[in-house]
Amino acid sequence: MKTAVVTGGASGIGLGIAERLRADGLHVATLDLNPAADDDFAYRADVSDPDQITAALTDVREKLGPVTVLVNAAGVEKYRRFQNLSFEEWKQIIDVNLHGVFHTVQAVLPDMMSANWGRVVNISSSSTHSGQPFMSAYVAAKSGLNGLTKSLALELGPYGITVNAVPPGFIDTPMLRRSEEKRLLGGTIEEHIQRTPVRRVGKPADIAAACSFLISEDAGYITGQILGVNGGRNT
Ligand code: NAP
Repeated sequence: MKTAVVTGGASGIGLGIAERLRADGLHVATLDLNPAADDDFAYRADVSDPDQITAALTDVREKLGPVTVLVNAAGVEKYRRFQNLSFEEWKQIIDVNLHGVFHTVQAVLPDMMSANWGRVVNISSSSTHSGQPFMSAYVAAKSGLNGLTKSLALELGPYGITVNAVPPGFIDTPMLRRSEEKRLLGGTIEEHIQRTPVRRVGKPADIAAACSFLISEDAGYITGQILGVNGGRNT
């Protein structure tokens, strides 16, 4: 039985991915800021802190064995006009969304290389397709994540490790609802649905289905790809 680590697994997309991978028959451990209290394999860890990741992974390995599947779903967004964005805010967004993935991939690589098999899926963002006003730090971090995905795919392919990215668009999660409440979406979710080709909001399960496939043996020849899951909003 394979062991997967899902960051951001306590909420929204990460939670949906963790549930799907469990249903697929994997052991799943989650890393998050506020983990579920009733889950023995839900770890409190800030992905921007390598020591917290190491501590959590040491325990995961002891209890569940080597980690050969990693899904990076932890993320934070920030809406701010660029001229008002402080360098501290910029760094905080890059720290979680991009440096966090640097830390988690480095932490699990030894397991994947020993197994000569591994799967990494990075949850980036549909905002990387065209940019997004007032989200420069976030889009820069997520675009960096797409680039990291492609480079790692080339570097790690010879070790049996695939690395892909899924940029979600318009998925109904606490993050999206918070943005709607703060009127940051440029319209309500209902209004956005009318502008979405498949005429619905996405669900965490839609992203989880893509991850499930990319993690499967069937996807072993797919690496370095950016698989948009966005209801046709970005083509
Ligand atoms: P969410 O419901 O807010 O879930 C994100 C999770 O990541 C939360 O549990 C959050 O914890 C956790 N987290 C934040 N900072 C962390 C850190 N430093 N260390 C560990 N965990 C951390 O948001 P979501 O919509 O599911 O987003 C999941 C991913 O999809 C994110 O990377 C996001 O950027 C990306 N995404 C989402 C959409 C969308 O339409 N929803 C679109 C594009 C991209 P707390 O809640 O406790 O802070």
